[in-house]
Amino acid sequence: MRKAIEKYLHTEMDNKASYVHSRKRTKIVATVGPACDTYEGLLNLVKAGVNVFRLNFSHGAHEDKKKIIDHIRQINKTEPFNIAILGDLQGPKLRVGELENGKIELRPGHEFIFTTEKQIGTEEKIYVSYKNLTTDVKPGERIFLDDGKMEITVVEILNDKEVKVRVILGGTLLPKKGVNLPDSALSQPAMTEKDREDLEFILANQLDWVALSFVRKAIDITELKSIIKERNSKVKVIAKIEMPEALKNLREIILESDGVMVARGDLGVEVPIEQVPVIQKDIIRKCMHRAKPVIVATQMMESMMDRTKPNRSEVSDVANAVLEGADAVMLSGETAMGSYPTLVVETMSKIILGVENSVYDYNRDDILTPQPHSPTFLSDAICYSACKLADDSRSDAIIGMTQSGYTAFMLSSYRPKSPVYIFSKEKTLISQLSLSWGVRAFYYAEEESLDDIIFDQIDILKHRGFIKSGDVVVNTGSTPVKLHLPTNIIKITKVD
Ligand code: PGA
Ligand code: MN
Repeated sequence: MRKAIEKYLHTEMDNKASYVHSRKRTKIVATVGPACDTYEGLLNLVKAGVNVFRLNFSHGAHEDKKKIIDHIRQINKTEPFNIAILGDLQGPKLRVGELENGKIELRPGHEFIFTTEKQIGTEEKIYVSYKNLTTDVKPGERIFLDDGKMEITVVEILNDKEVKVRVILGGTLLPKKGVNLPDSALSQPAMTEKDREDLEFILANQLDWVALSFVRKAIDITELKSIIKERNSKVKVIAKIEMPEALKNLREIILESDGVMVARGDLGVEVPIEQVPVIQKDIIRKCMHRAKPVIVATQMMESMMDRTKPNRSEVSDVANAVLEGADAVMLSGETAMGSYPTLVVETMSKIILGVENSVYDYNRDDILTPQPHSPTFLSDAICYSACKLADDSRSDAIIGMTQSGYTAFMLSSYRPKSPVYIFSKEKTLISQLSLSWGVRAFYYAEEESLDDIIFDQIDILKHRGFIKSGDVVVNTGSTPVKLHLPTNIIKITKVD
């Protein structure tokens, strides 16, 4: 063993490498909330298989988030993990206000007024938190309340603050419930004042990923990225796809983002719900083709909010997301507010492993081959061939190195059979890659010679228990080392 690698071994952690993390390829994103936000609570979820924690900026104060961030960073320091933190910006989410007596019964046929002037709602008049309501909606357009549980239609624009509406599908309206305008073209900006303040907090605390809700066009992402760049931050951006307009601009949005979320909660309100499964499949495929990590989100294990076993349909839902090739599956209320946060993650890990251990052919097809017109064609071709070579030679590992992350995202996107181990000297990237399918990343900063680098990387993985003597591994790298060129070599090694 070379002396140089001693500092990368963390010997006290070596025997912990057998956690579920080393075996499962599809990642788990868990939303943090009161049900799991202590150090112990978070650590339990990590041990059960969580790779990324989501902080939902729709709820809670910054000071509570700060405590959670400190806990997660402490876990990363003391345990052999690099758990990523994803800050999820609320975006322009519309809501009703407070209500008289805490609820209002909406009966079909009943007419009332939506006002943009803040007040306690009554049966006659209810406040909606959207200034441009009267200019953006037209008679005949639909308005959905509380995840689409109630449907309203616009009757008449009364003045610049009030809209007369009629109830189509009734129900009990509770305070602060969400409002969706699926038929209307919204004129408000993609980021609210609150989002800007939350973003400052996310940048100040150097979170790994930031998600933007209700993205409509690629420029929404471009604008967010320009603020991030101004602040010299390395945070990567996820576009949440939950608006019909985003589906129209899907290709450009995927190209502009670093990752994508299939946000089925709002998506299922904004588009006919029966279209969601096919949209999910399509988004996953497009993201794999562009080597962008993709998360499937919302209600995956909803019944485990208050029960110890999932519904059969939920098991199939998680399994299908895995089969379709999603990088990650997400838990929301289940871990944030549910009664069994750890059990939910354990169950989800078992479902993932159940699929991964019995099926090999993920959502791969011919279009996945490197595209000659791409500016990254040559390094794409190397990554593609490395995965092919690893599959053909039944390799036990693919090892890559990267500073931009590109090689890691690329290797992962081919969904190879062997685990992908990535070495980088970019510390932010190490945790960011926790979101990517099949990837486990390690810090490594030596750059003397390519021979040494490859020996070291194999040695580190061997010492930490990820590979063993007799295994076959495929390395990708770049030479001359000092020039930091895109990946340009492949090597195959039988481990001593
Ligand atoms: P949310 O996003 O939980 O922030 O609403 C996810 C979704 O809409 O599915
Ligand atoms: Mn949403």
